[in-house]
Amino acid sequence: MTACLIPDAAVTTWRDLAALLTDQTTPCQADPEPWFAHDPSTRAVAGRACQSCPSRVFAACGTYAQAAREPWGVWAGVDRGLRTSKKRAAA
Ligand code: SF4
Repeated sequence: MTACLIPDAAVTTWRDLAALLTDQTTPCQADPEPWFAHDPSTRAVAGRACQSCPSRVFAACGTYAQAAREPWGVWAGVDRGLRTSKKRAAA
């Protein structure tokens, strides 16, 4: 059995976000790579693109990332940093 990586406190917001994503188009859907890029300037461009995300998705995305304490990537325009193996272990 695989343990769920989503903290209990974030499960509800994750479900809200997933439901919204099923019927709305967001800037990150076609190519999410820039949202997790190593280059900070690329992540900055992705963060600006978040501003055109539907408002309910934007809000759910930010709430989820905060509740899940997402350790990397751009979520709702906030750059949470670069993916490293140490970060997930510490999260
Ligand atoms: S707000 Fe969230 S769902 Fe919308 S484009 Fe940004 S990362 Fe994607």
